[in-house]
Amino acid sequence: MEEFRLDPVDFAFDLISNEKTGCRECLPPESSIKSIEFKKGYIRVYEMKDRIQPSRYQLDGKFFKRSNAHGYEELIVENDKHSSSFSGYSADDIEKLLLIISERLNELKAYEIGKNISVSRYVNGHDYWDLVILPIPLQTAQKCHICESLNYIGNREVYKTENIKAYVPFSPKKNELLRITTTKHMAIEELDSVIAFDIANLLIKIMKKLTKEITFDIKQSGADHFEIEVIMGETDPIEALGITRINYSPEESAKNINEKMNDGK
Ligand SMILES: [Zn+2]
Ligand SMILES: [Zn+2]
Repeated sequence: MEEFRLDPVDFAFDLISNEKTGCRECLPPESSIKSIEFKKGYIRVYEMKDRIQPSRYQLDGKFFKRSNAHGYEELIVENDKHSSSFSGYSADDIEKLLLIISERLNELKAYEIGKNISVSRYVNGHDYWDLVILPIPLQTAQKCHICESLNYIGNREVYKTENIKAYVPFSPKKNELLRITTTKHMAIEELDSVIAFDIANLLIKIMKKLTKEITFDIKQSGADHFEIEVIMGETDPIEALGITRINYSPEESAKNINEKMNDGK
């Protein structure tokens, strides 16, 4: 079981986690909770119960509202092979996938899990999306930080169409290449095919001209405006939300230190 902890000084969250490393989708699969048609086959949706609670069953009814559970995670998987087809997809394929993600987030909205969404995809790995929704950290800023950022892009802009812009952020995160967002204030759940197609074309361009070693992460917080972070290498959807993953228990750690410090010598 994993646990979120809040640092009361800087209000930063940690996730105390004993997660095994490796490809999420190559872990032993449970049965899928949904399938969606895609490219003459099916995308399958798997709920991840080990990482973030509660389970699908707890999401139903009043139980979830009373629980102190910590969000929801699922994998949206295009195929079972541990290889990548993403860079071979057409703009139409990627547009379709983005719309599938948008629709899925719309469905999940009914459960009121939280407003912090992170859907990440490592372009060079297994063909799946790692979708995480958390009630924390809740952004309560009055202004939309994305709309504000767009007003101050200046010479950090690298690409634009009528609907989207890509730019290098003012204060990039670790390994962040660039950020893509819609020029109009828009939630990911409202994504339409025109904008999805623009984003698909840009992602293809990035893979062809810059690098295939990227993760892109669709992110949305309190203000209901989404952006896509393009990050070099492989990243974790939890860390993309600004939460640090800690791989040990503080209590266990204190016990070990205590034993060593007080062993009588
Ligand atoms: Zn895999
Ligand atoms: Zn906005």
